[in-house]
Amino acid sequence: MSELSRAWVALGANLGEPRAALNRAIESIARLAQCRLVARSSHYRSAPVDAPGQPDYWNAVVALDTGLEPLALLRALQQIEQANGRERSFRNAPRTLDLDLLMFGDISLATEELTLPHPRMHLRAFVLAPLAEINSDLQIPGHGRVAALLPSVRDQLIERMD
Ligand code: AMP
Repeated sequence: MSELSRAWVALGANLGEPRAALNRAIESIARLAQCRLVARSSHYRSAPVDAPGQPDYWNAVVALDTGLEPLALLRALQQIEQANGRERSFRNAPRTLDLDLLMFGDISLATEELTLPHPRMHLRAFVLAPLAEINSDLQIPGHGRVAALLPSVRDQLIERMD
């Protein structure tokens, strides 16, 4: 592998067996061609955002080094979602597995298929708390350091599970 980029991926699940789904997905990410897993956070439990009455989410984030292009990585992540029974029934529907590409190196882009950094990552405790666990100095392009953003989401319920 030459020209590796550091990518960050958020995982979420709130149907079936969410903890097992996250672990399976992390194994699948680690096995992707031209990718090497470099860090994974603990599991977290969070209250669903904008979806009252749904089960709690289980969340985690991972960091990987990849020789893939951003869009190729997004499509590989979508294949993992599909293999885990993801159904896109309606906005904010509960899901067996949701994978979001948070950042890809220091690339900023906005296309129909892919926006980087992920446009809502700096607003979500379920992204910022696990990111802070593995790299609190991480800079989110356009928004600043992960640790500095955490106080702005402290009203969002989240619990570290292990
Ligand atoms: P969701 O249903 O929340 O998983 O959103 C998936 C849709 O968002 C797909 O159509 C993707 O092409 C699009 N998308 C745009 N930017 C991103 C990103 N950074 N990570 C994941 N999906 C993205």
